[in-house]
Amino acid sequence: MPKISSTLLTNFIICAVVATLLVVAANRPTLTTAATMQTKARWYKGNTHTHTVNSDGDSTPDEVVRWYREHNYQFLVLTDHNFLTSVEGLNALHGADEKFLVIKGEEVTDEVQKKPLHINSLNPEKLVTPQGGASVLEALQRDVNAIREARGIPHINHPNFYWAITADDLKQLQNDKLFEIYNGHPQVNNLGGGGRPGLEAMWDIVLSSGKLLYGIAVDDAHHFKRPWDVTASTPGHGWVYVKAEKLAAPEIMAALERGDFYASTGVELADYEASAKQIKITIKETKYSGYRVQFIGKNGGVLKEVATNPAIYEVQGSEGYVRAKVMESNGQFAWTQPVPVQ
Ligand SMILES: [Zn+2]
Ligand SMILES: [Zn+2]
Repeated sequence: MPKISSTLLTNFIICAVVATLLVVAANRPTLTTAATMQTKARWYKGNTHTHTVNSDGDSTPDEVVRWYREHNYQFLVLTDHNFLTSVEGLNALHGADEKFLVIKGEEVTDEVQKKPLHINSLNPEKLVTPQGGASVLEALQRDVNAIREARGIPHINHPNFYWAITADDLKQLQNDKLFEIYNGHPQVNNLGGGGRPGLEAMWDIVLSSGKLLYGIAVDDAHHFKRPWDVTASTPGHGWVYVKAEKLAAPEIMAALERGDFYASTGVELADYEASAKQIKITIKETKYSGYRVQFIGKNGGVLKEVATNPAIYEVQGSEGYVRAKVMESNGQFAWTQPVPVQ
């Protein structure tokens, strides 16, 4: 048997190892990209504005969390006025992997010239004190900055409560991405009136100015003990579906700030895809309802209205932005986030 030189043997072993590595590499799944992350992400239903007895709500944090847990939400942010409720004990009791999560929060409750200025601080590291200011805009900006300093995510609440915040204020405010397009409290004037614009018209004014702002729907629930009372602010009216990689506070917060969510007062989507070329909305229909979808662009103009499911809009390129509003025949809505179109 011819003797194989040690150099040849070494070369053979190196070649065999390299070949094996190449085969292994070829069979390995491709690297995770933003696109594959998207397909792995799930939709989570949550409410980002809720009160307890820690401010002016009528129920304990335990009772409030229990209500949302038992009504098929996946996350809840507790946002008492100028109070940061600890959520560790609540999560120990009610939290469950990929099923339910309580996130800490605060409704920073400020006032300027007798106008109530309320800004939610979602998942902050610390309590934020209302900062005040000489004007509505100055106070809002100081509060938003303080929330960012506390590493919280700001959302501007019920702009039409006491007609406190105008579209002009929202347009000029910086460092914020979220505002309430719908708030379930019965005194917050979502639809406008008396010559003042509703929240949707305000949204289009802000978007048409070139500022990207995402619309969030919330309960602002205070009252869990008198569900028959129409003057009470009860739960279950407005929420968001957030598309995130997992049910954890950092992932939910990042998805909100990216606009990877839609706001709803009852309409659920089976699928939602948006790119620079096309927006496609697939509605999860219910038996008793009919639907229509409006695609809306600059200055609130309706670009297209369809009654098909899925509803598809091909982007032309000159719209400025495109957002969609799904209208259900019994008065329920869903709002998807604006896609900027340059
Ligand atoms: Zn408020
Ligand atoms: Zn509130």
